[in-house]
Amino acid sequence: MINSHAHLDFTSMNAIAQNAVAIVPSIGNQNWTEVQMYPYFSFGIHPWMVESHSQQDLDHLEYLIKCNNPIAIGECGLDFHKTIDRDRQMYFFNAQVQLALTYNLPLILHAVKATEEIILTLKKHPQLSGEIHGFSGSNSQAQQLVSLGFYLGFGMQIINQQSSKLRQIVKHCPLEFILIETDDHPNPDDLQQVAAEIALLKQISLDTVITQCDNNAISLFKLT
Ligand SMILES: [Zn+2]
Repeated sequence: MINSHAHLDFTSMNAIAQNAVAIVPSIGNQNWTEVQMYPYFSFGIHPWMVESHSQQDLDHLEYLIKCNNPIAIGECGLDFHKTIDRDRQMYFFNAQVQLALTYNLPLILHAVKATEEIILTLKKHPQLSGEIHGFSGSNSQAQQLVSLGFYLGFGMQIINQQSSKLRQIVKHCPLEFILIETDDHPNPDDLQQVAAEIALLKQISLDTVITQCDNNAISLFKLT
């Protein structure tokens, strides 16, 4: 089973890193080298990290993309829940959108309290592809993203019975646009649990969920 978003290079994740097939996103210049130890990695600057990065880092990011065959650009995006300067976040997000366009790579997006702004940007560039990992927007935003061809990543949040809004979104989101992820949860059973919950919510078999979600990751990230 493919984990579509797992920070395997974080020390807390060492226990599951050995036998996981995963997309390993980077968060900034601090782990651009580490993520390359995994077969499927991406290069980006996370919105939480923009204050410690400069234009020089963006230039270096482009150089790495040219030389090292990442499967995507990210983790990048916007987080308006944090008190990090929004203009600075927008600057780094837009720069990474341009890189995705230039190098024809999918985006791995982090969107918290900023899904609307992300959608506005994606609408301007219909040739973009990618995923919103750890989706936390509304049902209407989920529908808009799916109609733009973007995938939605879901993790352990959907197990929580109190996340009723999110669970409804999973129930109604076409399985062809769902990715399963554990992000930074260090429990190896998480992936299976999330898949089982999707099967339950959609009243379909676990096998169907696993096969389709694996295929979604393979086709979005062109995994070989
Ligand atoms: Zn992440």
